[in-house]
Amino acid sequence: MGAATMYFGIKFETDTEELYHQVHFEQKFPEIESRSMFVSLSAVGDYERAPPGYRAVTISTHVRTEDFTMDRKSGEYKDYKQRIEDILIGKFNDAFHHYGIADIKEIHTGTPLTFERFTGRHRGSVGGIPWKAWQPIWKRIGSRLPLDNMFLVGDTALPGQGLAGVSLSAIHFSNTYTDRTKGC
Ligand SMILES: Cc1cc2nc3c(=O)[nH]c(=O)nc-3n(C[C@H](O)[C@H](O)[C@H](O)COP(=O)(O)OP(=O)(O)OC[C@H]3O[C@@H](n4cnc5c(N)ncnc54)[C@H](O)[C@@H]3O)c2cc1C
Repeated sequence: MGAATMYFGIKFETDTEELYHQVHFEQKFPEIESRSMFVSLSAVGDYERAPPGYRAVTISTHVRTEDFTMDRKSGEYKDYKQRIEDILIGKFNDAFHHYGIADIKEIHTGTPLTFERFTGRHRGSVGGIPWKAWQPIWKRIGSRLPLDNMFLVGDTALPGQGLAGVSLSAIHFSNTYTDRTKGC
């Protein structure tokens, strides 16, 4: 699974105190895998994240990594990224216009090609292998490998996605390794 993210600064005419939002889409867009996006705002008065009068906005949603086989510098990629930006900004406007959007600046967009470039993750995938109702737990990739002293940790290993899953995966590795060194 991949993510599309947007980061920008915003000036509202009326500030909203709530920081975390999930905006649901009524329709499915071919470029976007989920039917919703997450919006986080920096707190009013947090001048480390945005200058006075502005708030920092982060938007994220899911996209398919396999849709990003094009070259990062190609026109095809620029057009595709623009379509994603138009959808996310459009949905942001629909959800927040009643606060009065006075200004939006410093727009930056991330896609699986961005995550691949900056984090080195395979095809820019993020968030690990998603849980599926029809996938039994014993078919997930565990931390043990057939090679001695080599283990898997992180969101592609059991139990998977998210910070809680990654932390559990590290605890699981630690317990397995400690047991091994104790000869259990
Ligand atoms: C936009 C977005 C929103 C998210 N929101 C949430 C959320 O609200 N709640 C939640 O629980 N989870 C969330 N997640 C998921 C969560 O961030 C990940 O599941 C978690 O960070 C994965 O941790 P990890 O250590 O497995 O991998 P990563 O955090 O990706 O760490 C892997 C590290 O390995 C480095 N690396 C890659 N290749 C190499 C190499 N060859 N050599 C050395 N280093 C290398 C990378 O640079 C990176 O630092 C979100 C993810 C994204 C992208």
